[in-house]
Amino acid sequence: MSDQKVFDVFVIGGGINGCGIARDAAGRGYSVALAEMNDFASGTSSGSTKLIHGGLRYLEYYEFRLVREALMEREVLWAMAPHVIWPMRFVLPYHKGGPRPAWLIRLGLFLYDHIGGRKLLPATSTLDMTRDPAGEPLKRLFTKAFEYSDGWVDDARLVVLNARDAADRGARIMARTRVVSARREGGVWAIEVENAVTGTRETLRARMLVNATGPWVDRVLSDALHKKDVHNVRLVQGSHIVVKKKFDDPRAYFFQNPDGRIMFAIPYQGDFTLIGTTDRDFGGNPAEARISDAEIDYLCKAASEYFAGPVTRDDIVWSYSAVRPLYDDGASKAQEATRDYVLRLEGEPGATPLLNVFGGKLTTYRRLAESALDKIGEAIGVRGGKWTASSHLPGGDFPPTAYEAEVEKLKRRYPFLTASHARRLVRLYGTFAARLLGKAASRADLGKHFGGDLYAVEVDWLIEREWARRAEDVLWRRTKLGLQLSRAEAAELEDYMRGAVNAAA
Ligand SMILES: Cc1cc2nc3c(=O)[nH]c(=O)nc-3n(C[C@H](O)[C@H](O)[C@H](O)COP(=O)(O)OP(=O)(O)OC[C@H]3O[C@@H](n4cnc5c(N)ncnc54)[C@H](O)[C@@H]3O)c2cc1C
Repeated sequence: MSDQKVFDVFVIGGGINGCGIARDAAGRGYSVALAEMNDFASGTSSGSTKLIHGGLRYLEYYEFRLVREALMEREVLWAMAPHVIWPMRFVLPYHKGGPRPAWLIRLGLFLYDHIGGRKLLPATSTLDMTRDPAGEPLKRLFTKAFEYSDGWVDDARLVVLNARDAADRGARIMARTRVVSARREGGVWAIEVENAVTGTRETLRARMLVNATGPWVDRVLSDALHKKDVHNVRLVQGSHIVVKKKFDDPRAYFFQNPDGRIMFAIPYQGDFTLIGTTDRDFGGNPAEARISDAEIDYLCKAASEYFAGPVTRDDIVWSYSAVRPLYDDGASKAQEATRDYVLRLEGEPGATPLLNVFGGKLTTYRRLAESALDKIGEAIGVRGGKWTASSHLPGGDFPPTAYEAEVEKLKRRYPFLTASHARRLVRLYGTFAARLLGKAASRADLGKHFGGDLYAVEVDWLIEREWARRAEDVLWRRTKLGLQLSRAEAAELEDYMRGAVNAAA
């Protein structure tokens, strides 16, 4: 069946960039459709280090434009989504003879504090590592450290909240829908999409096409748009390991490895430490990126250089890998390739334009979307103005520093919740946590219990509002309860979801 409606904008890709562009465009009054072939954020956007950061390291490559834009975004995004984004302090230990001189780091952090529109985030300070608790879990290698501010983000939730908001503003948002081909026909784009569950195909029409498929951007150009000799992005794999927690301090560590790479060790989900990342050129299908033995060894060995207790394979409870779609600027080393984004508009204005998105970071996705909207306006006519900087994502309508107050409010309204359950719900759903819980007056009202603090009421919300269809969507992207549920519990969740999805169909 073919839908004769002509959308203004059709976005391919439900990662942070596609969802960010769809949301911005829908909010400006364009009619928008978006197709994601798998689950939202199933590509690179759930496999990041999860930092909303200026990127101290990029200063070494003179990426001042990118760093400034990213720094400015930290507090904008925090205010937009204070449930899924929050400030974090980073401890950067250093010693004489380290890979970078102290003056260079100090200069970088001076820029960090002063060029980035910092209002609420605390400034850089220096630490005596022989006295500060941050020195305790480490080997006695460092006497000094800098402590600076950046932000933390639940990357997968940032994506789905953008998709949700786009849908609430009228966009047609399709998960598990692959774009098979797109061709110019009768002055518009004819886009053939395939439902990944049923295999049915339909053709949708749009005036403009946006290719925001991250590491798949070149594949889509060659396979769906039949372009020849496509080579715009360099694919660079990065992996992380999650281990039983190595320290109790709420601050994260920024280590400078002797090979010039940097590595983070970040407090993660209460009981764990997240360690990463790596940089290696990648040639396969991005959906199949998996951590290699060499990467595991590298991360364990590097972390063991710093922590008093070694990090071994046995400590690893989870790992993940993702592929950066870096705009190919010809840099020889993977870690030197630019992290900036490039937007390229093809086609005459008004005549089936195509916008390709190359590169980008989670941190700069909102600015990238604004730049994409400038191009969209150029191509099919301007509608609306910039609006997202002072907006809230769903559930994010509370002051950035009021997370604890929101938790208290939720606990007062639902006194049967444990403290950790209330905290988790506010982190994930913000002010929507109360909508999710509805009239529940006791734990029994939350429905079937799946393990951890996951109950049917939350799973049903995720099916209805957040396109969750499989247990892995819930366990590894909408939440990280995969770290807590057993295999048997996950299988039970899968059964429940299958039943609920079929009943709703
Ligand atoms: C290891 C690592 C660490 C990182 N750390 C950070 C960090 O700390 N902070 C930061 O700001 N950034 C970080 N980044 C960068 C950031 O994660 C990426 O730039 C961003 O997620 C890219 O988003 P995207 O939307 O372009 O791509 P993706 O998230 O990959 O989305 C593209 C989507 O397109 C879909 N798709 C592909 N082909 C089709 C098709 N034919 N039809 C329909 N859908 C299709 C895919 O399924 C995919 O979901 C990191 C990246 C990596 C790899």
